[in-house]
Amino acid sequence: MPTSSNRVVIIGGGPGGYEAAHVAAQLGADVTVVDSDGVGGSAVLTDCVPSKTLIATAELMAEVTNSAELGIDFTDHEGDTAATIRVDLAKVNTRVKQLASDQSADIAARLERDGVRVVKGRGRLGPDLTVTVGDETLQADSILVSTGAAPRTLPSAQPDGERILTWEQVYDLTEVPERLIVVGSGVTGLEFASAYLALGIPVTLVSSRDRVLPGEDADASAVLEEVSIRRGMEVLGRSRMESVTREGDVVTVRLTDGREVTGSHCILALGSVPNTADLGLEEAGVATDEGGFIKVDRVSRTSARGVYAAGDCTGVLMLASVAAMQGRIAMWHFLGDAVAPLDLKKVSSNVFTAPEIATVGWSQQAVDAGEIKADVVMLPLAGNARAKMQGVRDGFVKLFIRPGTGIIVGGVVVGPRASELIHVVSLAVAESLTADKLAQAFTVYPSLSGSIAEAARRLHKV
Ligand SMILES: Cc1cc2nc3c(=O)[nH]c(=O)nc-3n(C[C@H](O)[C@H](O)[C@H](O)COP(=O)(O)OP(=O)(O)OC[C@H]3O[C@@H](n4cnc5c(N)ncnc54)[C@H](O)[C@@H]3O)c2cc1C
Repeated sequence: MPTSSNRVVIIGGGPGGYEAAHVAAQLGADVTVVDSDGVGGSAVLTDCVPSKTLIATAELMAEVTNSAELGIDFTDHEGDTAATIRVDLAKVNTRVKQLASDQSADIAARLERDGVRVVKGRGRLGPDLTVTVGDETLQADSILVSTGAAPRTLPSAQPDGERILTWEQVYDLTEVPERLIVVGSGVTGLEFASAYLALGIPVTLVSSRDRVLPGEDADASAVLEEVSIRRGMEVLGRSRMESVTREGDVVTVRLTDGREVTGSHCILALGSVPNTADLGLEEAGVATDEGGFIKVDRVSRTSARGVYAAGDCTGVLMLASVAAMQGRIAMWHFLGDAVAPLDLKKVSSNVFTAPEIATVGWSQQAVDAGEIKADVVMLPLAGNARAKMQGVRDGFVKLFIRPGTGIIVGGVVVGPRASELIHVVSLAVAESLTADKLAQAFTVYPSLSGSIAEAARRLHKV
């Protein structure tokens, strides 16, 4: 048994856990990861990787469906015009699951190469910095809890795994739903609604709020809602779900105002609850909030000495990238390497809908609420030459700068591959570049990124 003072035990092998394990191993620690469901965690096995793989097919399908405008005709084997293309959902889902399990295997192989021990089972905190897994007790000098979160369900809306589904269960579908109801208009609900619509499935979105994506930039969610409705999505705003029931092949979503919506399948996207029950947190002195999320500071310390926490179980910002950074920060801090506290104003994130919505830094909501003074410019993509060539009409670029210095403090990109385009704005925010500096860098002509430079030019002060 190692007797060094840098034994690290990590409970949970998602991005929070496995990225921390790599850092700790690199810094010479003796590292054990305890994981119950497969390394990669929900991010790789059920959430992020599977959904983005499904969305890759949806994007291609949307491009093919809209290709007539760009001069492409499809014909059948007799040379007649073929009017429909269809998705083979069983094939798509087989690919999704294979890709996820391959990715998990890649992560396991890399952990092994780094000398990290992986123990399969449920970990629980014991006394004096120990972790128990079945009959085994692991002694640690530091523990990282990164147990993630699970889909929230309600007693009145229970998934059955066949027609009433959580987002973890959709990849078992082998037949195309006749009508899909998505309950919840946050990021997860919108991503699934948008993807299945693009796959040619009629979709009804049940949203309790005035607008979809209430947490995102209002201009961006307005574009997404308009495009989704134009493409045939039925969006029921200000409609709160009371219950979801199934009778045979029919699923009924009853709303609090008495209306009923019927479909063949329903996806529940009602948010997440942290996996923090029965972990021994209270006995170990690890404080949680009223929602059960572990309280952490900006270097991932919990209230218990030597115990860190990272990722969705902390509820700080439920993104794989943030989980990974919290995990790395915890290890840099514990093992005495250089470390900067987590800065949420530098996080870039993306909603993988059609069009995509990517954001970084300060938001329009914060500017409107007077939390920060900023000048704003918003440039529609419709005037961009590359966008015209590609048949792209929807979307925009928005930049926020500090009025005195011209330093870029945030941005929003709505459009195809916004997730890639946002990186230049993210770099500007991270490095405190001015709009003039961003405007002076060459962009390729023609390119969508040209609109980011053009937006920056419009912010030039004479
Ligand atoms: C549908 C969907 C799509 C998403 N897409 C994106 C995206 O595109 N980009 C992005 O950045 N984020 C995305 N997210 C969010 C992202 O998946 C999470 O933020 C990320 O998974 C958090 O990582 P984690 O390490 O905290 O937890 P997880 O990935 O949940 O991993 C935790 C692991 O711990 C295990 N575990 C739990 N309890 C124990 C225990 N007691 N003992 C041992 N093991 C335990 C779990 O089984 C799991 O394997 C998405 C989320 C959803 C729901």
